[in-house]
Amino acid sequence: MIDLFASQITYLKGVGPKKAELLHKELGIATYDDLLNYYPFRYVDKSQVLSIRDVVSDQAYVQIRGKVMSVDSSGEKRMRYVIVTVQDSTGTIDLVFFKGLRWVISHFTPGKSFYVFGKPSVFRNKFNFVHPEIEGDTGEVRVVSGPRLEGIYSSTEKLKNAGLGSRGIGFLVRELLNQGVNQIEETIPEYLTTRHLLMNRRDALVNIHFPEDATKIPLSTQRLKFEELLFIQLDMLLQKKNLQRKIPGQVFSQVGPLFLEFYEKYLPFELTGAQKRVIREIRMDLKSGTQMNRLLQGDVGSGKTLVALMIFLLAIDNGFQTCLMAPTEILANQHFNSITSFLKDMDIEVALLTGNTKKAQRNHIHKRLLEGSLNLLIGTHAVIEEVVQFKNLGFVVIDEQHRFGVEQRARLWKKSEVLPHVLVMTATPIPRTLAMTLYGNLDVSIIDELPPGRKPIKTVHFFESKRLRVLGFMREQIKLGRQIYVVYPLINESENLDLKNLMDGFENIQHDFPLPEFQVSVVHGRMKADEKEFEMKRFVEGKTDIMVSTTVIEVGVDVPNASVMIIENAERFGLSQLHQLRGRVGRGADQSYCILMSGNKLSAEGRKRLEIMVKSNDGFEIAEADLKLRGPGDMQGTQQSGVLDLRIANLAQDGDLIMLTRKVAETILEKDGQLADPENKLLRDQIVKIRKQKRNWSRIS
Ligand code: ADP
Ligand code: MG
Repeated sequence: MIDLFASQITYLKGVGPKKAELLHKELGIATYDDLLNYYPFRYVDKSQVLSIRDVVSDQAYVQIRGKVMSVDSSGEKRMRYVIVTVQDSTGTIDLVFFKGLRWVISHFTPGKSFYVFGKPSVFRNKFNFVHPEIEGDTGEVRVVSGPRLEGIYSSTEKLKNAGLGSRGIGFLVRELLNQGVNQIEETIPEYLTTRHLLMNRRDALVNIHFPEDATKIPLSTQRLKFEELLFIQLDMLLQKKNLQRKIPGQVFSQVGPLFLEFYEKYLPFELTGAQKRVIREIRMDLKSGTQMNRLLQGDVGSGKTLVALMIFLLAIDNGFQTCLMAPTEILANQHFNSITSFLKDMDIEVALLTGNTKKAQRNHIHKRLLEGSLNLLIGTHAVIEEVVQFKNLGFVVIDEQHRFGVEQRARLWKKSEVLPHVLVMTATPIPRTLAMTLYGNLDVSIIDELPPGRKPIKTVHFFESKRLRVLGFMREQIKLGRQIYVVYPLINESENLDLKNLMDGFENIQHDFPLPEFQVSVVHGRMKADEKEFEMKRFVEGKTDIMVSTTVIEVGVDVPNASVMIIENAERFGLSQLHQLRGRVGRGADQSYCILMSGNKLSAEGRKRLEIMVKSNDGFEIAEADLKLRGPGDMQGTQQSGVLDLRIANLAQDGDLIMLTRKVAETILEKDGQLADPENKLLRDQIVKIRKQKRNWSRIS
């Protein structure tokens, strides 16, 4: 049977090539199916007519009925706008038009009555309607034909000009349903719709566009969200299964002497419960015979590197070489120093390889890697250069994942015949539900517990008027021997202005903290890499007291003696970024502080962000709040993901439904791993269809 909904939208009555092109460009609607799945974002009750006197808020769409009193075209020759004043028995209100002025003037003759529908806005201190929808009033009592609840579709200026505002789109959907409603097919098997009390698909689609009554809206919404999320989870889990099946991995069968020696003799503290759990999760992967691809999330300082170290030992015990790749020279150095100090009394060969490694040393490393006498290589991108060959690489850790592309990861993998296990570590917490959806095809481990005894960082928010107090505090801390970060925002719109801000700040600080008593470093994006490196190093080595920088200060840089983080214009940073920056302090034994400086004028959202920072030290909690505040589109790592083209579900608000559909998908696939069972035929067909669509998209873009 021909699939009506696969038809190009241009063939729908009332569309045609011009409108089709617009619909595609503006809303991504190319087929009947796309239009069917373009849902209203809200509903209004058109049976309600408001008295003009009662138009008192710009919060909602309302309908009024009034008679035209006057039509005032301002700006004479070069007419810029037209104001139509309408009146009912309770008052008058203006309709404002900036476009299609000729039509407006010919249409609104004084004395005629109209229904006016729109969202009031404030102009010249009065409520009015800008470009409202208009319907002629025949003078008779209006017979409400069709549903009273009307869906409002979001549209664009260009579409509105082509007659495809909300109402125009509604007409098209009506036409589409008239033609095709009987061909709408179910995608979810009955055993699931029954169990989860879901409306059937046809009713859901009809009611989401044209609700029979108000109770149908949540029911149809729930059904369509469930469907959308269920197929994402099924698709992700199937991908994950296939990945696991295809790629064999080294088997680490034993917990050997090195691991045990370290654990019993040299580990200076007790592992946290979360660390133990994650090590167990990883061990299961390493025994399984398939290649591990695991994402390890944990807040800054939660002890991820230590987990990596324990797994290095496990791999070495099983006769394999290991590698740790960090995004920058400084981070690689830090890892090298802390790991070699942990391992100083053990018989393990560790080397550092970066762009700065001397030729002779480098050759020596290459040789020992090939021989197999080097157990652990720590480095930057330098470790994935062609010349670097291992004898038997078994386990790789990539730190701070977002800086490495997929391609770089693939290059690492090619370094041995059987692919090494890969653990990607990231300190950018992602809310659980988001991770499930974005990384549902990866395994994710989470360290959600900090080592005991950490002093929580004290966070405060100050307005500019407290500047002097802050300076005094800085002096006090430096006298105590501490170091301080001062961070300026970097906004892409005006790099020059940002740089000026930073340099002004730098000069002020040099003025307030004069040489030779105080030493100040500065780092920003316009500096050459080696200059940056030099300034960073001075700070890391304790030669400077204050580090003034943009956000280029490295993720993960560890200066335990730095105990104060001052963030200038903190209202301009996103929550995750603020939390990342704050994570630079609180690494030593001393009490640490984070001071958020802001101007007096704060947007409601900006204020909320700073409040959350002052209240919470927990990266996951902050990530959740961030997701709620900004929506998923702005979250790190989500931009390129097609998963976010959600039609109805909302990653920030539908957490419970995400968890539920994940469970449902898991249960289905546990019983029927390839959806081969006849009772799951609908699911399989739909997955095939979704994947075909995805392929088509990727071919286009
Ligand atoms: P991350 O890589 O997650 O930022 P690290 O592994 O670098 O965290 O650990 C941060 C600090 O905490 C290090 O100094 C580390 O030695 C220490 N640490 C790690 N695990 C524990 C633990 N279980 N108990 C006490 N301190 C720990
Ligand atoms: Mg770390």
